[in-house]
Amino acid sequence: RAKETGKARCVVYSPAQAGPPQHDISLEAAMFQAVREGEFLLYYQPIVDAPTREIQGFETLMRWKHPTLGMVPPVRFIPIAEANGLINLLGAWALKAACVQLRQFEEVARRSLYISVNISPRQFRNDKFLDVLDDALAFSGLPGEQLVLEITEGTLMVDPVHAEAILTKMAERRARIAIDDFGTGYSSLAYLKRFPISVLKIDRAFIRDLPGSQKDGAICSTVLDLSRHLDLSVVAEGVETEEQMGWLNERGCQYIQGYLTGKPMPANVAMAALSESMHAKLVPQDLPAPAAA
Ligand code: C2E
Ligand code: MG
Ligand code: MG
Ligand code: MG
Repeated sequence: RAKETGKARCVVYSPAQAGPPQHDISLEAAMFQAVREGEFLLYYQPIVDAPTREIQGFETLMRWKHPTLGMVPPVRFIPIAEANGLINLLGAWALKAACVQLRQFEEVARRSLYISVNISPRQFRNDKFLDVLDDALAFSGLPGEQLVLEITEGTLMVDPVHAEAILTKMAERRARIAIDDFGTGYSSLAYLKRFPISVLKIDRAFIRDLPGSQKDGAICSTVLDLSRHLDLSVVAEGVETEEQMGWLNERGCQYIQGYLTGKPMPANVAMAALSESMHAKLVPQDLPAPAAA
């Protein structure tokens, strides 16, 4: 249908034309090629402690660097990979590579950090997922407690019985579970009681209009209160301004992730940031005054 209306134009499908989303066939074909050519990369975005802004961990974000299209954003290729199953291959690679990368980050930083990895609904449902997880931990030697697996509310709600079984197995490996894009999915708060969840990531949509929006302020405050009572950690996503940062810090939000404190970056840039912050700890004021000559 898109083809008939002309070349290179964006076609918006109305619900009346419902059916499966019309994926870009050429992009899909290019994906298989891209896997063979090694065009997929991982970027890492810092997650910092709100009061000190010290890096505590990183979220792993996949990138596709196409030779002619340039950077294809994940919102375009992840849904295709989810539909054709390539996500299982890409996701397994990302999980293993990220665990290995974290060990290198820790060597540079000379302290313990954590790595957060997105797990798509299809990966989560895959029979082999626990094997993939065990392989990533064994191969990297990373202790499970330093791994956070990000899933969405939707992933939990498709099949809560299966989800509970898998989450329990993840918890046995001491990996922590984060609910990504918290508050944007269709779910009930009951799952916070039922499932072993450790982290809530407040979606960027609720952060964007802080501190001006009263409604978003009320939603964020409520999530912060809820997480305190349930002993969960909170990460605010998409923090771009000092005002947002200040607002969240005043209300006890523990972790911040956003362009203000670091964009997603290649591993070598992340390592430079870690090594710089390690060296910056010896600040000039710590030096004793030179003895008078
Ligand atoms: P997400 O997991 O919610 O990741 C956060 C997204 O917010 C990232 O977009 C990140 O670049 C963006 N972001 C972070 N801070 C800011 C900010 O201050 N301002 C703005 N405007 N954006 C910010 P990205 O990298 O484009 O990824 C989009 C989504 O694609 C992710 O959302 C996740 O759902 C999916 N994704 C990315 N990598 C993977 C992966 O390895 N596996 C799976 N299954 N999904 C992935
Ligand atoms: Mg995420
Ligand atoms: Mg998110
Ligand atoms: Mg998101």
